[in-house]
Amino acid sequence: MKQQKTINKSFFLEGNGLQTGKSVKAFFYPDKEDSGITFVRRDLENKPRIRLGDLMNLATDRRSKIGDYLETVEHILAALWGAEVDNIRIELTSSEPPGLDGSAGIFLEALKEAGIKIQKPQREFIEIKEPLWVENKESFLGIFPSQTFKISYILEYPGPAIGRQFFSDTVDSKVFQKEIAPARTFCLKEEVDFLLKQGYGKGANLKNTLVMTKDGPMDNILKFPDEPVRHKVLDLIGDLYLLGKPIKGRVIAIRSGHKLNLELVEKIKPVADRRQTGR
Ligand SMILES: [Zn+2]
Repeated sequence: MKQQKTINKSFFLEGNGLQTGKSVKAFFYPDKEDSGITFVRRDLENKPRIRLGDLMNLATDRRSKIGDYLETVEHILAALWGAEVDNIRIELTSSEPPGLDGSAGIFLEALKEAGIKIQKPQREFIEIKEPLWVENKESFLGIFPSQTFKISYILEYPGPAIGRQFFSDTVDSKVFQKEIAPARTFCLKEEVDFLLKQGYGKGANLKNTLVMTKDGPMDNILKFPDEPVRHKVLDLIGDLYLLGKPIKGRVIAIRSGHKLNLELVEKIKPVADRRQTGR
């Protein structure tokens, strides 16, 4: 049986949000048993707290948003998932955590450096008892009953720069650390102007974002030949951890992004709530 975990000691990271470009500090604090994952906006009056699982107003366009207080938290959440952290408090000085290198790698290394502390209570999982899915045009995201957490993801982009990529594996902490956490966010070169005009990617640069052309990323080197699909898996893991608990289930994703990811989270949430109240 797995036990709950927190971190040994507090630490902070700083940088600029990938989307907002705003300078931000993220302070990480150990938290007590059964307290879950809590974000605090320490820059706002009354310091609003958002505890994952008590979800509110999940909305998305190209990024994940939680109410008015948080956005683009998927890389931090993926790192917490990868480190198997259940209880932690993260205080932010802006709505978006630092983008760092565009992956979950630096968050994960920092968590490990602070040390992972095992707590007494058993770790709770969300068990998928019946198939749940969401779809939109060519995209599909479903989760099916399984005793392990396995993801199969098909990425498809028009043109040769990214093309079709496929990932399928049982993902646990070890696989995540090696195969998923280092994968960086990406976009097509043709998208750059459009995204900037829409107000995205203000903190993006050629180091923290793979700007893909048919000859590979601009001024950068891929960490994996299929780094983009691995990053989509990273985003999906982070978005699913908005539920505040790890899931046992078999995930099938076809061209899924934050919008579908959050729709699936909304569908899983009643299942997770039933477990919490023991019904
Ligand atoms: Zn991402």
